[in-house]
Amino acid sequence: MTGRVASRLDSSIILNRLVWKYSGHEETFTDPLVDCRECQSRFRADKLKEEYRQLKMAQFHDRVLVVGWGFLERGEMRCPNCGKANWTGVRPFNLMFRTHVGATAEDDPEARVYLRPETAQGIFINFLNILNTSRRKLPFGVAQIGKSFRNEVTPGNFIFRTREFEQMEMEYFVRPGEDEKAHQEWIDACRQWFLDIGISPDNLRLYEQPKEELAHYAKRTVDIQYRFFPEREDEERHWDELMGIANRTDFDLRTHSKKPEDAEGKRLNPDSTEDLSYFDEQTKQRFYPYVIEPAAGVNRTVLALLMDAYSEKTNDKGETRVILKLHHSMAPIKVAVLPLAKNKPEIVGMAKAIKRSLQPIMRAVYDDTGGIGKLYARQDEVGTPFCVTVDHQSLEDEAVTVRDRDTLEQERVKVADLSMHLLQRFSPGS
Ligand code: ATP
Repeated sequence: MTGRVASRLDSSIILNRLVWKYSGHEETFTDPLVDCRECQSRFRADKLKEEYRQLKMAQFHDRVLVVGWGFLERGEMRCPNCGKANWTGVRPFNLMFRTHVGATAEDDPEARVYLRPETAQGIFINFLNILNTSRRKLPFGVAQIGKSFRNEVTPGNFIFRTREFEQMEMEYFVRPGEDEKAHQEWIDACRQWFLDIGISPDNLRLYEQPKEELAHYAKRTVDIQYRFFPEREDEERHWDELMGIANRTDFDLRTHSKKPEDAEGKRLNPDSTEDLSYFDEQTKQRFYPYVIEPAAGVNRTVLALLMDAYSEKTNDKGETRVILKLHHSMAPIKVAVLPLAKNKPEIVGMAKAIKRSLQPIMRAVYDDTGGIGKLYARQDEVGTPFCVTVDHQSLEDEAVTVRDRDTLEQERVKVADLSMHLLQRFSPGS
């Protein structure tokens, strides 16, 4: 799949209200809210429902379907803050941030716009522009990385849920009928990608969204979940979403097009002036492509990488150090060049020259602001895979010591061979 051509787009953050009207976000992009009447704490009712469902499942040792909000009305779930069970009714809360454009009155509905709560719609409304300029043939993908904004009811858990976050989404357009196979291929490829960047398979799982959870446009959605909450007692509650991979059918391209009609012959989108269909030269047919959407959060991916890589080591003196065992490809600094003696100009000069020679091929830093133990510890903590130490002997034998962050093994390498040596150790499978 990854060999297939994809275009990259950078679409607008502020989008016309009509985009969000026809995508369904104005009506359905809501979280159900509930307040505790006793302590005035506010919660997402769907999260309480999930907790309630997990509790029941543990009780009955089986899958439990919880329909509606009766469990709150009957007081079967206690407030996580005060322990009472006195709830208000559940009401929907739209998560989109609103603003208005132009020098108009703030409450003028004509001027209302939204900050995008997902990057996907920017791709759909540009579908025709992309098709006309790139002349791509199905199947092809259009990817976008950028900021999304959601007025989350309960932000928190560090960078797990924030109101402004970085999303990476791709819309992969396929012929109807080829959607199910492509969907499965993307699920497998995305899971493999997380493994390839160093996340442990023990901390990843696939979650098939049951029918009652599916978004209104989705034929099938599989989430890749990460063990974000290992401290929780109940294993089922360790997991939360890292990425969603949805089969969105042809819903989006149809809903933004001027032609499609409902069962009564009424246009689905009377405001649209474009038709986002695709003409297949091979079969001479015009149709709306189906869309497979892998959607991930950059912030949650970084959080998962940090959690997976974090480790501690305690020495004989009882001092604990942090070692961030990031996969080589994810480490922001690949190599640190350190002089053993910073008051020896020849050693310092040689170390700086080595750093300069490595810089064009990998991110390298030079540091002499402490003793060697401290310098190693600093690099371990930020996840630098290798440290190169220049010592007195280096001036004689033109060789340096390469120290491996994870094994702590040290190897003597000729300066002339250093870049090749490091590149080999970075290559997959080494
Ligand atoms: P959740 O159920 O956790 O609210 P979601 O199902 O609404 O997430 P999607 O709309 O599928 O999320 O968005 C795709 C990805 O964007 C998510 O898998 C997640 O990694 C990321 N994401 C969504 N909301 C947030 C947020 N508020 N903060 C950080 N990342 C987020």
